[in-house]
Amino acid sequence: MEFRKLRLAGFKSFVEPAELRIEPGLTGVVGPNGCGKSNLLEALRWVMGEGSPKSMRSGGMDDVIFAGTGKRPARGFAQVTLGMAGAAGEEIEVSRRIERGSGSDYRVNGRDTRAQDVRLLFADSATGAHSPAIVGQGRISAIIAAKPAERRMLLEEAAGIAGLHVRRREAEIR
Ligand code: ATP
Ligand code: MG
Repeated sequence: MEFRKLRLAGFKSFVEPAELRIEPGLTGVVGPNGCGKSNLLEALRWVMGEGSPKSMRSGGMDDVIFAGTGKRPARGFAQVTLGMAGAAGEEIEVSRRIERGSGSDYRVNGRDTRAQDVRLLFADSATGAHSPAIVGQGRISAIIAAKPAERRMLLEEAAGIAGLHVRRREAEIR
């Protein structure tokens, strides 16, 4: 799967709707401190099913919603949409929306989809909320300091076989 575009609205500092095109190859995000670079990566992980507020530098899930500033009121919801091209070039659009106080839901090509199915969608590729293909601040030193078992997981993800573990867990649950 290839990422093509990312749309955000009301997500953290991205209060106004914004759309970014993602070109093939390596993407770097640059800008002054506090401009929202890390927020952008968190939006990407969030739409792919990130379930841990802590790994989003948040106390609770609602903290991803624009909290307001001196000049602007808070928003009641946040939405992130990831546009992708599938293996056969077909368009896939995954979006996640959270309303303050009532949790989040997902849509894949406009249809309601369960969180675990969204995570499965990304489980086989080198994508996904915990993908080593997304290198955030502090991540390099975390990889160097990782215990052998954690580092193995990272390598398995990079090799594209970590999805098999997710599938096996799913199969065991069902
Ligand atoms: P640095 O270069 O220092 O790493 P950065 O470009 O990664 O900076 P971010 O951490 O993405 O910057 O953005 C930080 C900004 O996002 C802060 O100004 C913070 O107030 C704002 N922010 C985070 N969450 C919210 C929220 N829920 N509502 C409004 N603003 C938010
Ligand atoms: Mg940052």
